[in-house]
Amino acid sequence: MKGYKGKIIHVNLTNREVHYVPLSEELAKKYIGGSGIAAKIFIDNYKPDLIPFSPDNPLIFMTGPLAGTKVPSTSRFTVSALSPLTGIWGESNSGGYFAAKLKFAGYDGIIVTGKSDTPVYLYITPDRIEIRNASNYWGMDTYKTEDALKETLGKNVEILTIGPAGENLVLYASIVNRKGHLSGRTGMGAVMGSKNLKAIVVEGERPVEVADSERLNEILKEILPRYQENITVLALRDSGTNSSFDLGIQMGDVPIKNWGLGKWDKAEHLGPSLYKETIYREIDTCYNCPVACKRIIEVNDGPYSVEKGPGPEYETVCAFGTMLLVDDLKFISKVNDFANRMGFDTITAGSTIAFLMDLYDHGFITKDDIDGVNLEWGNKEAVLELVTKIPTKEGAGALLAEGSEKIAEKLGKGKEFLTTVKGLEVPMHDPRGNFGLAIGYATSVRGGCHVSSLVYPVTAGFAYFPEIPELVDFGDPLSDESKAVLAAKANDFGMFFHDSAIWCILGGSVLNATEIVNIFNAVTGFDFTIDDILEKGERIWFLKRGISHLFGMRAKDDKLPAKIITPLNEGPTVGVAPNADKQLKEFYKLRSIDSETGLPKKEKLLSLGLTKLSDLLYNKNI
Ligand code: SF4
Repeated sequence: MKGYKGKIIHVNLTNREVHYVPLSEELAKKYIGGSGIAAKIFIDNYKPDLIPFSPDNPLIFMTGPLAGTKVPSTSRFTVSALSPLTGIWGESNSGGYFAAKLKFAGYDGIIVTGKSDTPVYLYITPDRIEIRNASNYWGMDTYKTEDALKETLGKNVEILTIGPAGENLVLYASIVNRKGHLSGRTGMGAVMGSKNLKAIVVEGERPVEVADSERLNEILKEILPRYQENITVLALRDSGTNSSFDLGIQMGDVPIKNWGLGKWDKAEHLGPSLYKETIYREIDTCYNCPVACKRIIEVNDGPYSVEKGPGPEYETVCAFGTMLLVDDLKFISKVNDFANRMGFDTITAGSTIAFLMDLYDHGFITKDDIDGVNLEWGNKEAVLELVTKIPTKEGAGALLAEGSEKIAEKLGKGKEFLTTVKGLEVPMHDPRGNFGLAIGYATSVRGGCHVSSLVYPVTAGFAYFPEIPELVDFGDPLSDESKAVLAAKANDFGMFFHDSAIWCILGGSVLNATEIVNIFNAVTGFDFTIDDILEKGERIWFLKRGISHLFGMRAKDDKLPAKIITPLNEGPTVGVAPNADKQLKEFYKLRSIDSETGLPKKEKLLSLGLTKLSDLLYNKNI
């Protein structure tokens, strides 16, 4: 078996034991890698009384077989655990350089269980795993931690670290590598903080062997020129992920004023042209990715100065820009820099502030509830004051650190202003401009998410898989027709492509499905077909969803918040909205899911070989 290293590290921080878990060919063939294998590890070690911050919650870092090879845009990793934000299956996916380095050190993944009495970091080399004292780094921001560890250990290491937000258990804390690459969603940084694990450092130079390098070279020769001519790649290289902002505004894709407005005359101040003119300095990239969509920015003047470093992505520009009616890229850069350093997710943070702005606007909360801050739409100083309190949970920061859904529960009001699915704030793409996103968000296994399913890339038109008819013939973007069948297939393919083999949805979008399978086979030596990978994706989707069922998730949690599907009074999508219930009904039928409970039929689980999940859901004696 090539591509894989065949070895996963298991560190128990309570008793400080380290051992190795073999990554067998059977496991690789059934669950591929990334969060597919993580979900299998999770179910095999499932404990009914597990809670997110219990030491037993396994924090699972996994690469895929392509990480560290010369296949572009695949050196990524996933991190998974029971999410403290949502209470169900949580995972996040990141690029950067860590995944390749972990493979070079000789490992496919790391499982961390237990809890250390004192702050520690892991030091991982091909020859040894050490649990080291991190007391000197506790309290440091992620940038300083990375610099300080490199100062001590040399430049040739790669580092994952949490910041104060993770240490203080902010429920949407992130894990950061190389400063600008974040595992942001579902609070994996808080799980890391709950274990007193400040950082993971890896070092190694052992290459990843591939099964058929001649065949791989042939395919790469064919596809590499596309990275110089593909229109999506060129746009991403030119303007980063914010390249889609202007088109998004025209198409009604960008949420404005907590999803309440269809147009805003100041939106143009946040587009790629001004980004380039005002804050942009250089491009940056992930390991072996010719796309180079990352931005390095700098702000030298004014109240929001930012040292040269990673710049805001599209999602952050919207979460702290259009969502709050803030039209200032320098301000957004300041918030982004702070969130990266402190280690928290900007989508949840920005959406939570937008939610509070709506509550404030409608008189549900007053200044007294938020440390005397005047939280009017567009008030940058108010936003900054609240944001800076999140990582330490000082004053109103304690409320904000919970995310919007838990705030609504605590207040006992304001649920109508939420934009969460299964507790996770949806990303910055509006289903009223693209009806397929409704079922995409409703059925994403980690809650409101647009990357693990391929609904968004295929409907937005930057990914094209002609071999899979359901991903091509999905009808009018502004109709509910064919969206359920699209989502079922997009979930299956996404589970393989994005979550388990771990292609970047941006960098991988130049490939068709045949090329994806051929590359995967050339690296691993397997002989999968497109049908095979869809079948594996289906199994992984049902497994992750089933894990969430074990923690109480049911059909009621597949509902979309009214806020994101209420027709708007103006703008490009005026008066239209998807019928999410209709899409969901069709989806349940297609997927053999009981529409009352949201649970899968037992026979379906058994047909996919998910026996343990079936026993846990249907046989109470287990
Ligand atoms: S496209 Fe961007 S995010 Fe994706 S791997 Fe390349 S540089 Fe990283």
